Amino acid sequence: MIKKLKEEGILLVWDRLKEQEPQCGYCSLGLSCRNCAMGPCRIDPFGEGPQKGVCGADADVIVARNLARAVASGAASHSDHGRDLVEVLARVGKVKAYSVKDAEKLKKVAQEYGINTNKSVEEIAFELAEAMLEDFGSKKEKIQFVNRAPKKRIELWEKLGIIPRGIDREVVEIMHRTHMGVDNDPVNILLQCLRTALADGFGGSMIATEVSDILFGTPEPKMSEINLATLKENEVNIVLHGHNPIVSDAIVEAASDEELLKLAKEYGAEGINLAGLCCTGNEVLMRKGIPMAGNHLIQELVIGTGVVDVIVVDYQCIMPAIVDVAKCYHTEVVTTSPKAKFKGAIHIEFTPENAHEKAKEVVKLAIERFRERKAELVKIPNVKPNKLMTGFSVEAILKVLGGTLQPLIDAIKNGSIRGVVGSVGCNNPKVKQDYSHITLAKRLIENDVLVVDTGCAAVADAKAGLKVPEAAELAGEELRKVCESLGIPPVLHFGSCVDNSRILVALSALANELGVDISDLPAAGAAMEWYSEKAIAIGAYFVASGLLVVLGVPPPIYGSKLVLDVLTSKVEELTGGKFVVEPDPEKAAEIIIKHIEDKRRKLGI
Ligand code: SF4
Ligand code: SF4
Repeated sequence: MIKKLKEEGILLVWDRLKEQEPQCGYCSLGLSCRNCAMGPCRIDPFGEGPQKGVCGADADVIVARNLARAVASGAASHSDHGRDLVEVLARVGKVKAYSVKDAEKLKKVAQEYGINTNKSVEEIAFELAEAMLEDFGSKKEKIQFVNRAPKKRIELWEKLGIIPRGIDREVVEIMHRTHMGVDNDPVNILLQCLRTALADGFGGSMIATEVSDILFGTPEPKMSEINLATLKENEVNIVLHGHNPIVSDAIVEAASDEELLKLAKEYGAEGINLAGLCCTGNEVLMRKGIPMAGNHLIQELVIGTGVVDVIVVDYQCIMPAIVDVAKCYHTEVVTTSPKAKFKGAIHIEFTPENAHEKAKEVVKLAIERFRERKAELVKIPNVKPNKLMTGFSVEAILKVLGGTLQPLIDAIKNGSIRGVVGSVGCNNPKVKQDYSHITLAKRLIENDVLVVDTGCAAVADAKAGLKVPEAAELAGEELRKVCESLGIPPVLHFGSCVDNSRILVALSALANELGVDISDLPAAGAAMEWYSEKAIAIGAYFVASGLLVVLGVPPPIYGSKLVLDVLTSKVEELTGGKFVVEPDPEKAAEIIIKHIEDKRRKLGI
């Protein structure tokens, strides 16, 4: 596909990366600052040039401040996504397009918030939404879902002063502290990074996951398909891209509308085909089994097949470049959120009130664009879509295990499963596409380590065939037996980026059952191909929760020995977790396996 698009004269993400090289060394090290108009300033990493910005900030302060702003942006992105869902939850019963699909979960979560559930679903939904909105504010001392963490962990966070209060409050506080002349203690700034990241993991992201389950159904295991061959030459193709399932759920429904299907047939199409991209793709894959076209760096190539009639986006990870690529074909890019408009795209704004009608408008537009396809530009790779098993929510895993975590605990204790690793995050054009995710997952399962994955890492692993029950053959003997007895793959799809919160819930439950802390578990995280500020926030809440996190792409912190030392070493004394930077997935696997074995030894198992 890359060759095809190049022949058609289209610049792709990898070409644009080359054009940017060599990238700015100061920025790569985190040593540039433009937080005020006395700057921009740069610190000379070789010690020969300036060692302080105009205001007097040194390398440690500048690097810590830059990292903090990245965490704030990542946490804000996940959390604002969560808030949009809460606002839909508040309207249940008042709008046609959305209802509660998992009333049992609604009640369970409402009870956690202390809401009396002896009333109608709509009333509970409204009260829960109101209570969750309080978590975004600044009146509380502790956001609600923090209580899901093990008691020891909560006490530790209290001692460190990093219990997240309100989600918005922590993000705002980072922006305040990193303004010129506020927080000039790099360690203090880093502690606020952890607190803000926790406001994401146990706040915004967890709210997004839980409310998505309530509104659209808690995922259950199901089979689906993945790769570019999920696009269909003889059908109208609509690609669903972004993160939030609010829009895509309405489009899934509209795509089965009888009148629109009839219209598609009148226009010569055999049907209406939906395919996902990035995390919106993960959301509809997990819950509805909608096939997945690909992950982050595939977004331009998807359009280059020449068969995408509409690519409909909500927000996050949507490259502005897709509008330029779409212009070379008949494809329309449709934006749907007032927060994410793209020059050159058609804007069809979705609200909870108009979602039904607007979804039909998008599908109708796609049907009309189908007639404009340019036959000479059409090429779908001549391969079969890969199969995958998706839908592993924590609830689904409990069901597979017979309603209790005990079989998993037994398997961990007796060594059939040596440990559990969350493989998360993006694609980055600086890394060979999908290679690091897949290599890491393969090495881990070969060594009897169960992998749970989310986001674009999950898509990479699925494209490599690691998410079918038959992939158990690739696992070590003990893990293979466990997978075969349960009929599950050795790499479990936990969902989208906000669904990393499912990993926190699962590990908290596991730690609670064992009577230990998360940091005691034979568990780790990895983001081998990360690019997004959201991934920094995820990594930081994993570390704050006590996990070792391996990053395959160096973060911009190497300009400060102090920040580097705190995040890759000293923080372990505080939270039990730390970052390791290791671009080689083979070595990353070795580091993680050693870590898991150390934890097992300490647990005496
Ligand atoms: S905050 Fe300080 S280091 Fe940053 S741009 Fe302003 S003067 Fe320069
Ligand atoms: S994993 Fe990264 S690239 Fe993929 S959708 Fe999530 S944030 Fe975007």
